[in-house]
Amino acid sequence: MSTMTVVQCWDDGVTADARLVDILRRHRATATFNLNAAKHAPERQPGWVFKGTQVGRLGWNEMRELYSGFGIANHSLSHPHLEQIAIEDARKDIAEGRDRLEQFFGRQVTGFAYPFGTYNEAVMAAVRETGHVYARTTGKADQPFPPGDPMAFHPCCHFLAPDFWERYERARSGGVFYFWGHSYEMISEPMWAEFEAKVARIGADQSARWGDLAALFAK
Ligand SMILES: [Zn+2]
Repeated sequence: MSTMTVVQCWDDGVTADARLVDILRRHRATATFNLNAAKHAPERQPGWVFKGTQVGRLGWNEMRELYSGFGIANHSLSHPHLEQIAIEDARKDIAEGRDRLEQFFGRQVTGFAYPFGTYNEAVMAAVRETGHVYARTTGKADQPFPPGDPMAFHPCCHFLAPDFWERYERARSGGVFYFWGHSYEMISEPMWAEFEAKVARIGADQSARWGDLAALFAK
């Protein structure tokens, strides 16, 4: 049986990523984190409330160490609806987001994830022209890779999708399973336990291996 590559990515650079990373490290799983450079202060800051739970933004003072060994991708500088602002402003937001992440992390950033999952043709062109090799949507694909258009790279599903494992099985013949989410969506201990069980089950799958998103496009 051929081996399926499993990739995952997580958005918004939130404090719950620390717990997520701890799980991923224990299970030797890879992941990419989609970050907005303008949203972080030197230290942790309160963000917003999600289903009664306070979401925090990570501080710059912890992000190099926290994300060490994981992929970093651009989620725009300031998380606007890119298709709703002037295209020159969108392009600037996209380009500066990438530049600041590259400077801070000291490595190349070539992946992109659309804020809110929204985009149009002009935004896709701006993402491509600012040096990104793929742009993730919030759509759903049975077989995500290779995408028809890398600037509309649809994952298989969200990590909480009720049909997660059906989609996992369906992705096998295409060779890549790709899921995404936000760690702040895990608001209870059972949700964290369920996620860890998912990671463990994928790790135990002899015909699957964790992969790196940017590496898919480097081939
Ligand atoms: Zn986001």
